[in-house]
Parts: sequence; structure tokens; C-alpha cells
Amino acid sequence: MRKTTMKVAVLLVLTVIWLSGCKRAPKEAHRTEFLMDTTITITAYGSQSEQAVEAAFAEMRRLADLMNANDSNSEVALINKNAGLKPVRVSPETFKLLEMSLEYSELSNGAFDVTVRPLVELWGIGKKDKYVPSEDEIQQVLKLVDYRKIILDPQKRTVFLSVPGMGIDLGGVAKGYAADQAKEVLKKYKVNSALIGAGGNIWAMGVRPDGQKWRIGIRHPRPETGNQLMAVLPCQDVTVVTSGDYERYFVRDGMRYHHIFDPRTGRPANKLISATVVGTNSAEADILSTALFVLGAEQGQTLIGKLEHAGAVLMTPESQVFKAGSHLSELELVYEEGKTSDARR
Ligand code: AMP
Ligand code: MG
Repeated sequence: MRKTTMKVAVLLVLTVIWLSGCKRAPKEAHRTEFLMDTTITITAYGSQSEQAVEAAFAEMRRLADLMNANDSNSEVALINKNAGLKPVRVSPETFKLLEMSLEYSELSNGAFDVTVRPLVELWGIGKKDKYVPSEDEIQQVLKLVDYRKIILDPQKRTVFLSVPGMGIDLGGVAKGYAADQAKEVLKKYKVNSALIGAGGNIWAMGVRPDGQKWRIGIRHPRPETGNQLMAVLPCQDVTVVTSGDYERYFVRDGMRYHHIFDPRTGRPANKLISATVVGTNSAEADILSTALFVLGAEQGQTLIGKLEHAGAVLMTPESQVFKAGSHLSELELVYEEGKTSDARR
């Protein structure tokens, strides 16, 4: 009897050893592509990680084709071509994103405004024909920048830009939306641990394969000061989105002209040099990071304070760092909050 018990015990131990030997580390898939004018990287873990990453990129490519204002075949280009002419019927996704954009235009008092397209074209940031326009030129173009002149018809699902020459640009929200969609695709393939990076948009899904939180670094906007990062945030199931004046810019006569415009002045916004938003919806965080970048530290903190479900880390041109809102309890700041550091303009 005792012998049988011993045998069973040995067999059990052997089975446990064999099973633990079978439990392999989750399969990693990693891929980088240039899409939506930026480098997109996905690292995913799971038994179907390869197929998951493949499908997530296919989805992001589809969205890029739909929403790229520079592609004459896109829906956004069609809306712009018909400005002042007629309403254009669009896909549910483009419609939803425009509805969301308008909601946040109201909330941010027009700091976020997708009708900035004529300003983007005038300044030519990120293109060869960049130049600094005159105040007159800016004022002319500003007549076309007003989100209240977008007419949405939810029944017909149409978009109408009511003034000829108007144009929309989803550059401030599309990457975030694409990251959200990529995350949903990964989930369908049972991926619970992944990192999606789309320009300044990051989705940290689950935790790392070693069970630790992802550690997301927020870039220092002026690395020439010797600091590569301004903060590090341990993350689990959150999205972290940064707008910065270092992403697309040119320097003329010692002035930095970048790609985020203040719709009230028609000039690159100058109250912040970096705005990061942490939340659970990347399209929303993307809109908010652009909006906060325009609003500045004071009004930006007030806006985040109203939302409860998002947090923000901001840096002023004097390199003062401010934080507000949720998801930031573990934030590791390189500088003390509110203290001026050594970043140059
Ligand atoms: P982001 O890097 O997310 O802040 O987005 C910047 C991009 O959004 C620019 O390249 C423009 O295409 C567009 N954009 C610039 N200024 C604004 C603004 N005030 N509101 C909405 N979109 C903007
Ligand atoms: Mg944005």
C-alpha cells in the first residue's frame, strides 16, 4: 500500500515537472512600419501574436487610407474637395471621429479644431515649401478656420464644410484612433500583453511578459540639455499620448516654427513645449494632448481637472513641469514639479 502511494507521489511530481517544462514563454511578434507620416511599432505576446500583429497593421493601413488629407483618394480629401459645394457621405468611423472632435472643440474653447487644414498648408510644416507667412496672409486663412462651420448630419451621415476653401485635417486624432483599433484587433487574437507605438501615441496593453508594468518614458522636448527623458510612467492598460514642438518643425532666425497651431492666432502654439495625456481611450488622449498643448499649463490643468478619467504632464518653454488628473500616482519625474530646469527654448 505504502509502495503504491509512493509511486503515485513520484508520478505526480514528474507530471508537474513535465507540465512546467511545457509552459513556454509567450510568443513575441514585433514589427515596424512607416504609416500615417510616422513610425508605427507593435510588440505583442501570445500564441497567435504573429497573426495578431499582421491584422493590426492591416487595420491601421485601412484607417490611414481613409483619413489621410494628403491622399487625394481619402474620405477626408473628398470632404475637403467639396467644401462650400455639397455634403459628403462618409464611413461611420470618419463620422464618429468628427463628432468626437467637435465635442472636444467645444470643451477646449476651440483650442482643438480640425479645420486647421488651411493653416497647415499655409505654413507648410514638414514640407519643402515651408515659410513664415505675413500677418495678412494668416488673417485671410484664419477666416476659414472654425469648427462651427462643419455641418454634420447624423441621419444621412454626411459632412459639409460650409465655406469654400475650408479643409479638415485629422492629424491631431487619427493616430490615436488607429492605436485604439489596433488594440482591439490584438485582443481578438487573444493578445493580452502588447505595446503599440504610433508616433507620440502609445498603448500599453496588460503587463510585460515578466509580469511587471510597462515603463513608458516621456521624451524630454530638449534632449540637447542632456536629458533624454522628462519622466517615466509605469503603465498597465493605459494609453500615453504626447504632443511636442520637436516632432515637426523648422527654425528660422532663431525661432522654432512647429506643427501644432493655435487656431486663435494662426501661429504655432507657444505656451508649452510638451503635453502628455494618459487615459484609456487613445483617440481622446490624442485630441486632449493637442488641445492642452494649445491651451497651456493653466487652462490645460483646468480642462483635465474637469474630466476625471485622464491625467496630464506638461512642460512650459521655461521647462516647468506640471501634472494634473488621474493615472499619475506612480509617475517618476526627472524634475521637481513646478521648478524651472535647464531646457533651452
Ligand atoms: P498632435 O501631434 O497629435 O498634437 O497633432 C498635430 C497635428 O494635428 C498637426 O500636424 C496638424 O495636422 C493637426 N493640428 C495642428 N494644430 C491643431 C489644432 N489646434 N487642432 C487640431 N488639430 C491640429
Ligand atoms: Mg493629438
